[in-house]
Amino acid sequence: MKKNVAILGSTGSIGTQALEVIEANPEVFSISVLTAGENADLLIEQAVKFRPEEVVICNHAHFEKVKAALSSFNIKVYSGAGALVSVVEKENIDIVLTAMVGYAGLLPTIHAIKAGKDIALANKETLVVAGELITSLAKQFGVKIYPVDSEHSAIFQCLAGEENNPIEKIILTASGGPFRGKDHAFLANVTKQQALKHPNWSMGAKITIDSATLMNKGLEVIEAKWLFDLQASQIDVIVHPQSIIHSMVQFEDGSVKAQMGLPDMKLPIQYALHYPFRLKSAFPRLNFTDYPCLTFEKPDLETFRNLAIAYEALEKKGNAACIVNAANEIAVEAFLHDKIGFLDISDVIVESLAKIEYVGNPSYFDYVQTNEATRRFASELIQVKV
Ligand code: NAD
Ligand code: MG
Repeated sequence: MKKNVAILGSTGSIGTQALEVIEANPEVFSISVLTAGENADLLIEQAVKFRPEEVVICNHAHFEKVKAALSSFNIKVYSGAGALVSVVEKENIDIVLTAMVGYAGLLPTIHAIKAGKDIALANKETLVVAGELITSLAKQFGVKIYPVDSEHSAIFQCLAGEENNPIEKIILTASGGPFRGKDHAFLANVTKQQALKHPNWSMGAKITIDSATLMNKGLEVIEAKWLFDLQASQIDVIVHPQSIIHSMVQFEDGSVKAQMGLPDMKLPIQYALHYPFRLKSAFPRLNFTDYPCLTFEKPDLETFRNLAIAYEALEKKGNAACIVNAANEIAVEAFLHDKIGFLDISDVIVESLAKIEYVGNPSYFDYVQTNEATRRFASELIQVKV
């Protein structure tokens, strides 16, 4: 029996790499649903090649184009964000890969879980915004959440066979991004072109900026809290510029397990899609003599404030991480449009966290409201700054 996969965000960095994994293993996987935000041409090309039963193009402006291009195939075409929540419920889907970016991934993920679909989770923002809700729904509906993020996949792999052994702590590795070792004065003038040049990973624009500000590591700390049921004090971050150790787990006897490999997202994607089985792959192998020196540094939380802000949100609980996520999404977008500087990103988040109403025990609707209110506030703040 093939595993039937739905990919939300198939035209992005994770989505296209997932399709490479699926293409290399046609006897293992089939594609049921593909969705894209804007890139109609690539979605069409993917649909012709992988023959899903349904596709969604979120921007309605491209609907007619996609429909016409796929009219001779037996593929249903939908448009709009509303379609995402219904396609994930399709009966024959075994696993949903959430490879969309940002808050927009939350609602389709909730629907997929409620329909009993296992989740291969790349869209970390979903767990950052509503980790408590998502993990309790997964429990309620008997759904597994398999991490795609390389650090969390590393931890997940280190935990195999350790079901009865509590975690003492985890150590998330961070590359440090393109501005590792730089100071405040340098960061004040960096451009988006510089920030978009990640030393080790090729990824979508939003996560690449998040990596440069260390917000990505902050989001990953929160993601890890929910995936592995940890306290903030059990989650350490260490800068490891070579990105060979993808993360580590320390157990109660002091033993530390690490998962290593070349930086290539296809491996964690494949592990999540086919857990618990490892598939033979042709991915380039790690040659240790190419990396004679693996180094480790403390992250600079004073210069890269976003990581500290994420820890603060985790301690605050409630809707704090939802506020941080929404403010960050707006600030990163503004930075990518040259509306604010690199250091302003943290200012927008700090001010939002101080101003938006705190809700201690949020419902789904509280998250929706918090997200909207924060986006409005952060956008207005940016208008003032411009
Ligand atoms: P990307 O920008 O390359 O791709 C995003 C995909 O989602 C595209 O297909 C796009 O069309 C779609 N999309 C974007 N906004 C949408 C919206 N509002 N509605 C519907 N579809 C939308 O992003 P990416 O780098 O592939 O990252 C995807 C997710 O995976 C993010 O949450 C990111 O943090 C996470 N992630 C990515 C990597 C990586 O290596 N790229 C690694 C770890 C985690
Ligand atoms: Mg990661």
